[in-house]
Amino acid sequence: MLTSLAQAVYLVAAVLFILSLAGLSKQETARRGNLFGMAGMGLALLATVALATDLSERNPVVTLLLIAMALAIGAVAGIWRARSVEMTQMPEMIAILHSFVGLAAVLVGYNSFLTEEPDAVHLVEVFLGVLIGAVTFTGSIVAFLKLSARLRSAPLMLPGRNWLNLGAVVASGGLLAWFLAAHSVVPLVLMTVVALALGWHLVASIGGGDMPVVVSMLNSYSGWAAAAAGFMLSNDLLIIVGALVGSSGAILSYIMCRAMNRSFVSVILGGFGAEGGKVAAGDQDYGEHREVQAAEVAEMLRGARTVIITPGYGMAVAKAQYPVADLTAKLRAQGVDVRFAVHPVAGRLPGHMNVLLAEAKVPYDIVLEMDEINADFAQTDVVLVIGANDTVNPAALDDPSSPIAGMPVLEVWNAKQVIVFKRSMATGYAGVQNPLFFRENTAMLFGDAKEQVEHIVAPLGA
Ligand code: NDP
Repeated sequence: MLTSLAQAVYLVAAVLFILSLAGLSKQETARRGNLFGMAGMGLALLATVALATDLSERNPVVTLLLIAMALAIGAVAGIWRARSVEMTQMPEMIAILHSFVGLAAVLVGYNSFLTEEPDAVHLVEVFLGVLIGAVTFTGSIVAFLKLSARLRSAPLMLPGRNWLNLGAVVASGGLLAWFLAAHSVVPLVLMTVVALALGWHLVASIGGGDMPVVVSMLNSYSGWAAAAAGFMLSNDLLIIVGALVGSSGAILSYIMCRAMNRSFVSVILGGFGAEGGKVAAGDQDYGEHREVQAAEVAEMLRGARTVIITPGYGMAVAKAQYPVADLTAKLRAQGVDVRFAVHPVAGRLPGHMNVLLAEAKVPYDIVLEMDEINADFAQTDVVLVIGANDTVNPAALDDPSSPIAGMPVLEVWNAKQVIVFKRSMATGYAGVQNPLFFRENTAMLFGDAKEQVEHIVAPLGA
């Protein structure tokens, strides 16, 4: 009775998760989507706890207590981290959370192997679950280290790295055959070691500029790892949720690849084909750059008819979205046409800039995607590049040897005047110098983006 009731609750939760995903696809409905997701997760937890205590052969009170303890530890840690994390640390936090899903799949796999009947289907489930989980675990840790700048963002270039990956896949195939024949833990342990190394190597060999795809890909892997755990635990909801996360992550990875003009397969295979790229240029002489002061920019904006703002990761670091929203409101009040151009991989998370601008209450209808606005730069008086770098780098189009070659970028240089807000001449995440800074119609406004925008807003207020 309880089991069928729990299954029915699982079904309702699954529908809520689907509604949640549908809601999250648009800014206007995102809040509702989140609420559906929370309700679904609440129901799923209740049903799972009820099932676990009912199925428990030993004392259900002990089971309940153990679950309560685990939930309490998780809730305290989760609430503490969620409250303390800075918006700029979200990408690395998401990466480390993916690693937990991977680790959980590995642990569930071992537990399931050691406690259940070893029929062939079950053994394949265990093997695949541990494999995907282990790759996700170390891959996500490397992504965490790279996103938090604890590890260099440049790709690790081991000799014969594609052969290493292929070798790991072939070895895992062999170990699966051994595992099925011998029902022994030895091939499982050996495969775990191989998969941990493979996850590490796959992500380590991807360069900074391609990291957005890695983040969404690990998101997808963590979904498949959860689905694999669902098969091992015979938990339908976990299978459904895992498949939802896995496929939405895969779709996102595909969208990111298309936005960056990269082949999905080559990125998944750890930057295969990236050999031609050179990293951390800066040796080339691009000439002199020109500097401006905030007061001059304010004057320039006063005389402009059309302005486009292109935000990037630096806006997130400086928390400049609030003064930027102020500046936008002031200029619009004075009849200036202000719009935002958002590159698909600006910032460190898919949708990063959209979230920040929405947070600062910039109207959605003036925030445009790259494809919608790229042709309009030529008719624009002033472009404000606020903490963006790689996403406005003309080398992506002009220099075939650049690591970001081929990536579509915001063609800001076509505007009459470009102002770049950053603190120094340092490179962006991909580690390549930006020839935009040395163009004749570009001027650099050095300093923290928030402070500089505030300096511009003040005289405009009059
Ligand atoms: P970049 O990371 O290329 O550059 C950001 C710039 O902001 C830096 O050059 C930095 O220059 C400047 N900056 C930093 N702090 C401040 C501050 N306080 N005030 C003013 N400027 C500041 O940014 P983009 O958004 O253009 O590009 C994103 C990059 O990140 C791409 O390479 C993308 O592939 C990668 N990436 C994107 C992910 C995603 O999902 N969106 C995920 C992972 C990677 P300075 O130090 O001189 O101030």
